[in-house]
Amino acid sequence: MSKNKKLIIANWKLNPNSLKEAKKLFSDIKKTASKTSKIQTVICPPFVYINELNKMYSGHRIEIGAQNVFWENKGKYTGEISPSALKSVGAKYVIVGHSEARALGESNADVNKKVNIALKTGLKVVLCIGESKRDLQALYLKFLKEELESALSDVPKNHLKNLIITYEPIWAIGKTAGDAVSPHQMYEMYIFIKKILTELYGKLSASNVPIIYGGSAEPGNVEELLTQGDVDGFLVGHASLEAQQFNEILKITNSF
Ligand code: PEP
Repeated sequence: MSKNKKLIIANWKLNPNSLKEAKKLFSDIKKTASKTSKIQTVICPPFVYINELNKMYSGHRIEIGAQNVFWENKGKYTGEISPSALKSVGAKYVIVGHSEARALGESNADVNKKVNIALKTGLKVVLCIGESKRDLQALYLKFLKEELESALSDVPKNHLKNLIITYEPIWAIGKTAGDAVSPHQMYEMYIFIKKILTELYGKLSASNVPIIYGGSAEPGNVEELLTQGDVDGFLVGHASLEAQQFNEILKITNSF
C-alpha cells in the first residue's frame, strides 16, 4: 500500500448468502474501485468467497482481506482458518479484534496472538479497537490504551509497516452517519492513538501507521472525517453492501 493512498476497507460481515451475490457485489464495486487511483480498496468477504473474488481482479487497486484468522498455522483446531491458508488463497489483509468477534469471546490475549502470527505470516493487519460507551471521567481512554497496548505486545517495529489501526467505537456501529463519531472526536482519537504508538515505537515508526475510522461511515460523513478528522481511510460495514453507496464513498475519498 502506498503511504499516500487512503484505505477503504469493506467489511461484508456475514453477507451475502451466496457466491453468486458476492460476485455480483464485487463486480459492481470493481467498476469504480479499479479507477480510483488515490485509494487502496480492500474487500473483506466471508472466508469462503476469498478465492473466487481474488480471481476476478488482477490489478492492485483492489485487494481481498479476511474478517478474522486463527492464531496458529497448524494443529488440532477444528473449524479454524490459519493465516497461511488465507495467504494461499489470495488474502492480503485481515481484520483482527473486531468488536463483534470480541463479543463472541475473543480476548485481548487472543487478539495479540492473532496480530503477531498474521504479521509474521506476511498479512496486513487491520487491528480494531473501540469503546462501548464514553464516560465523563474519560475511563474509555484507559480502556482503549489497554486494548491497543495488549494487541501490540511483542510486535516488533519492523512489522509496523503492515499494521493499520481502526478506531471503531461500538456505539457507532450499524447506525447512520449522524450517529457516527464527530470529526472533532475523531481528530482527538487520531492524536491519542498516534501518541500511544509513539510511546511504543518512536515518532518515525508511529507516523507511518495508518489510522482509519469505522462505525457508520457513509457517503454523508466521510468528507468531514477526512478533512477535519484527519483519518487515513474507513472500515465500512453496512454501506459496503450497497455498491452504489460504497462507490460513492470511494469517489468522495478519491477527490482529496
Ligand atoms: C463494522 O462493524 O466494521 C462497521 C464498520 O459497521 P458499520 O459501517 O455498519 O457501522
